[in-house]
Amino acid sequence: MTDKINLIEKDNLEALYAISQIAAQAKDLPTLWEPLLAQALAVLKVDAGSLMILEEDFLLRKAVRGLGEEIMQEAPIPTSSGGISWRVVRTRQPAIVTDLSKEKIASKELSKEGFHSLVAVPMMVRDEVIGVMSVFTRKERQFSAEDLRFFSIIANQAALAVISISSTELLKENRRRLEELEALNQISKSVSTLFDFEETLSSLVSSITRLLRADKGVLVLFDHKDQLLKAVSPAYGLTPSQVRDLRTRSDEGITGQAFCQGVPIMKGVLDPATQEILRRAKITGVKSVLAAPLKVKSQTLGVIQVFSTAEENFHPDDRRLFTILSSQVAVMVNSASMYREIEEERKKDAALLASIGEGVLAIDKNQKITHLNLAGEKMTGFLAEELLEKTFSETICLYDKDKQPVNLSDSPIGQVLRNGQSQTSKDFYLKKRSNSLFPCYLSLAAVYNAEERIVGAIVVFRDITYELELEQMKQELISIATHELRSPITLIKGNLAMILDGDTGGVSGETKETIEELAKINQRLADLVDDLLNVGRLEQGRIKIKIESVDLRKLIEEEVKEYLPQAREKNLNLSSSKNDIPQVRADREKLRQVLENLISNAIKYTPEKSQSSKFKSQNNRIEISLEQKGREVICRVKDHGLGISSEGQKKLFEKFYRVKTAQTREITGTGLGLWITKKLIEMMGGKIWFTTVENKGSSFYFSLPACKRFA
Ligand code: ADP
Repeated sequence: MTDKINLIEKDNLEALYAISQIAAQAKDLPTLWEPLLAQALAVLKVDAGSLMILEEDFLLRKAVRGLGEEIMQEAPIPTSSGGISWRVVRTRQPAIVTDLSKEKIASKELSKEGFHSLVAVPMMVRDEVIGVMSVFTRKERQFSAEDLRFFSIIANQAALAVISISSTELLKENRRRLEELEALNQISKSVSTLFDFEETLSSLVSSITRLLRADKGVLVLFDHKDQLLKAVSPAYGLTPSQVRDLRTRSDEGITGQAFCQGVPIMKGVLDPATQEILRRAKITGVKSVLAAPLKVKSQTLGVIQVFSTAEENFHPDDRRLFTILSSQVAVMVNSASMYREIEEERKKDAALLASIGEGVLAIDKNQKITHLNLAGEKMTGFLAEELLEKTFSETICLYDKDKQPVNLSDSPIGQVLRNGQSQTSKDFYLKKRSNSLFPCYLSLAAVYNAEERIVGAIVVFRDITYELELEQMKQELISIATHELRSPITLIKGNLAMILDGDTGGVSGETKETIEELAKINQRLADLVDDLLNVGRLEQGRIKIKIESVDLRKLIEEEVKEYLPQAREKNLNLSSSKNDIPQVRADREKLRQVLENLISNAIKYTPEKSQSSKFKSQNNRIEISLEQKGREVICRVKDHGLGISSEGQKKLFEKFYRVKTAQTREITGTGLGLWITKKLIEMMGGKIWFTTVENKGSSFYFSLPACKRFA
């Protein structure tokens, strides 16, 4: 170092100091070039000079002095130019030209200027050439070795300044990017809790655009219906109408390429197709574009792209960063669309729930109320918000048919929460906000989570106050009407019997037939009235059961005797089994009613057999048999009649239900017999069921508790 200083004059030392000051004060590279070059020119006392920086295969002019401005507009000098500057780069040695007219000069502008001599030195840092500094003189000048040496020192100092500023800039740039990336990271993290996808996507698009020093950024998604790539909001730096008009086919421009090829595309200069797409959307001034596909698993949802008004704005590093960020955006876009779908479904469900006329209440596993629809609010007088987070028992509560509070875990609701079995019931009351109770029809279903575990229940309820009142009115009406009918029917029955017995004088021929027919019709009327009265009494709980030991076998024998004439009329063989069976615990008269109904049905619903078949086949038999099973006695009434269709089987025990076929049309009945029979059997602690094959016959069974003692 001392050697060097000795060789350098004082002026030159000052010049070097000035250069170090320039480097220290420069804010960035553009503010560095001009003063550096000016200093070199002053020291070497020359007219003009230029400073070029090496970028890959080109030398880029960063500053010129003493030359026309046009030279700055010239294209960078490629390695292939073979000029003096590239020779300096390759040889890493200064070049001195005394007579420029004999040299090949790459720059046209420079050759026009008519310079005579030139010195060009490499700008070197740690054995690496980063650029070339050149000075020119109009007159011929012999540059001394010292000039050359000093110029080299200036050039190397300048190179050092360039490197130090660019690394500071790089550091700053990296720090900025890191900060932005950190911000992006925070944004994506907050999504899992925020669910504000629109806002998050908007932040992502604007942050990514700024991070890449671009001016505009936008998401372009593939619309499957229209088969087009369409820009969607949120976008950065674009107006809503530009976003609306930014549409392209999937094979068009950079957007189409990134989408179809599934790889990021970087363009420093725009191709005509992309220019056309931007023109259609009235987006002006775009010079370079970066586009990356938005991929989730094997699906490409669309493209994210950023535009810059600067040519060659993007660097290969930007592309790498963009690719990483685009995958984050893709996940977000996918989640947003899924979330939107769920939201839509949820809204639809909510609208549906609100429009349902029945109350819908949802509770969780711990009975906490999580939802109450509009109809439910109206029925109970509670607002949904009042009930949320409170338990069912604390608020609406369940009451049994005697209006006593029910322990929820023992109720059907508790059962649904435990075993998931759906059920319906109308023997309950719910409480209103005013504390009054209302009878309701309940329909319950369990709610399951993805692992098929019960997480709650849905309680659908309907206020049936009016229905019950109406039903009661109907019953009362029927009861009054049937009572009023009973006496005249009995009177008619007696009188008709008297006439037929000849008490009023002999009847014969047609008159007798007519009166017999009238007696039959009257009997049907009497049966109907009896059935209706029974139904009314059963429904109102007015039928009392008197349980005693009953010899069922004997009762059956009595009934068989009673029905034998009817059976014979149709050539049917009515019989009962004679095996030993314990007595049963039942109400004798109710049990008689049950037997009468089942035996009369068996006769009614078996078509008349021909005289001959009576001897040949078994299918004219109606058999009543008894069997003991454990603590129960089971009675079977078996016929070989019409049997019952599968449709009929489902509704057989319903009130007023009758199977309607061509064969049953002529058979009279009320459709009440089996309903009454079932109620009576159940009241006596038994069960009733049947097996049947259409056109082959049926067996009706009932069970009753057996007495310990044998008959
Ligand atoms: P009803 O006999 O007065 O119509 P029920 O309640 O006794 O009313 O019977 C209901 C319906 O069930 C009948 O209409 C008939 O269609 C069918 N049914 C009852 N018993 C039999 C049977 N043994 N065989 C075929 N169908 C029967």
